[in-house]
Amino acid sequence: MQISFYTDNSAQDFSFKDHTLFPEAPYRCPFKDCSMPVKLKKHGYYSRFFISKIFTGFIFLRRYICPVCGRTISMLPMFCLQGFQYSGIDILNLLHELYQGGISLRKLIEQTKSKLPTLERRHLNYYRKRIVKNRNLIQYVLNLISPEFIFAGSIPENQNWVKTFLEKVQNLHPHVFLLDFSLHIGKQFMTS
Ligand SMILES: [Zn+2]
Repeated sequence: MQISFYTDNSAQDFSFKDHTLFPEAPYRCPFKDCSMPVKLKKHGYYSRFFISKIFTGFIFLRRYICPVCGRTISMLPMFCLQGFQYSGIDILNLLHELYQGGISLRKLIEQTKSKLPTLERRHLNYYRKRIVKNRNLIQYVLNLISPEFIFAGSIPENQNWVKTFLEKVQNLHPHVFLLDFSLHIGKQFMTS
């Protein structure tokens, strides 16, 4: 299980094993079928590759283990998406720029080349598809985050809905959205 948390630190700070960057261990096992009221124990680090405009490289994420059921959790800074190497904040910002109009996908990729040299059109197309696939889940959480988002649920056309969704994320700020989303349902917006 991966648990998102808020941080003011940059991805680069996580390129070293530093326990001070992480929240304290939970006092209750987060696995529903265990839920034992015991403090989890430190269980090393999990390393993963992370790609963003300002930092690309391995980062180290704290792991905790439940002493009762023996399962582990990894603590994920809110800009990391489970199962995706690219920064969630960069993804949301790039898609927002694209959906604002005035720039083609090809141009956007060209413009981003110096900062994200490995990003290709297929990545952004995949994220768009994934967001449409998760539309019901995303809209459900938007409704929980704020009632002013409920109207967006009735937008019939998927691409218009994606555009509206991306605007709302910008209004909230991408890092606030990413964190709120996972705190509400324990999943991330592009989770399959
Ligand atoms: Zn447990």
